[in-house]
Amino acid sequence: MFIGVPAETAPGETRVAVTAETAKKLVAQGHTVRVQSGAGTVASVTDAAYQAAGAEITDAEGAFGCEIVLKVRSPSEAELALMKPAAVLVGMLNPFDAEGLQRLATAGLTSFALEAAPRTTRAQSMDVLSSQANIAGYKAVMMAADKYQRFFPMLMTAAGTVKAARVVILGVGVAGLQAIATAKRLGAVIEASDVRPSVKEQVESLGAKFIDVPYETAEEKEAAEGVGGYARPMPQSWLDRQKVEVAKRVALADVVISTALIPGRAAPTLITEDMVKAMKPGSVIVDIAAGKGPVNPDGGVGGNCPLSEADKTVIKHGVTLIGETNLPALVAADASSLYARNVLDFLKLVLPKEGGIKIDLEDDIVAACRMTQDGQVTKK
Ligand code: NAD
Repeated sequence: MFIGVPAETAPGETRVAVTAETAKKLVAQGHTVRVQSGAGTVASVTDAAYQAAGAEITDAEGAFGCEIVLKVRSPSEAELALMKPAAVLVGMLNPFDAEGLQRLATAGLTSFALEAAPRTTRAQSMDVLSSQANIAGYKAVMMAADKYQRFFPMLMTAAGTVKAARVVILGVGVAGLQAIATAKRLGAVIEASDVRPSVKEQVESLGAKFIDVPYETAEEKEAAEGVGGYARPMPQSWLDRQKVEVAKRVALADVVISTALIPGRAAPTLITEDMVKAMKPGSVIVDIAAGKGPVNPDGGVGGNCPLSEADKTVIKHGVTLIGETNLPALVAADASSLYARNVLDFLKLVLPKEGGIKIDLEDDIVAACRMTQDGQVTKK
């Protein structure tokens, strides 16, 4: 098959869907890999490295004109116009963007959104949400440490003792767990909150303290179990009690990393303006959910904190709020390496050894990821 790898054009997108490592494997499987010149530059993969891996270097038309196109983000209108009807598109296509999916269907594409893969053991090697959230959690702590004007670790020096930073993590999925692990390595003292009770053990195993908010009704307990490993909206009664506990910790925190998300919904508000006002001057909030929350009076789109602003770093009430919405793109090389391996593993399901493309809807991963086919949106 002819496999195209275009350069990403979404603002701030630095990743690439195929690296030299995965290009080599696709070529070894008998495919022709056509990479748009410069597609891997920011991710530290040169055109020469792709060529050494057996790929051809081409232009945008050459890459988008292939039978299979591998992307990080969904193609723009102009890019869709370069694609062949009935071509296969694989990427992070945003399954909750109904308009975007309709555009892919209208273009006649058979498309697969890797974010829709089930959170099962078999799908783990192609789980792009995990591979990228892991990087986001790490980078969030790095960015906080960069803006925070004090040390993370406790230090005893001849000039006196420096206290360890207090870090609060809100939402302990993949990003939150990595944020705990990274902050711990830097020597911070960490507390974390999540709605799902199963997280407590994981938090404690990483050396952090879990902020316990006991469930008082059967409804609260049932909601907290979530669905398919994901959180569900919690009853207001529990959220009110969580807010009280979180507010106490946030007031004492030097750094807050918030990652709380509920698939397909707006990000829950966990850090109110009053909580920000109560924080110490010089504290830092990294809102990984920025852009998924409410529009704030300053016109920015918030996240778990309504004051944060998507893709901006702002200072409000003496607190630095970092609202970077694409943290993995700031670690372009490793984010691309992991993403490209996810893509390669997914391709094994649709590119059988005997050749051609096979779309087996009996396969739960293929069925869940398929977004469009034969001019229709087929999302489950
Ligand atoms: P996510 O990005 O959807 O959400 C981040 C976290 O926010 C979640 O832990 C969620 O419970 C939490 N959250 C939501 N509302 C909250 C609130 N009001 N207060 C506090 N926290 C709140 O999550 P994710 O990183 O995609 O992970 C979701 C789950 O899937 C996790 O249990 C993870 O371990 C699991 N998972 C399983 C597999 C697998 O089995 N193959 C792979 C990856 C992830």
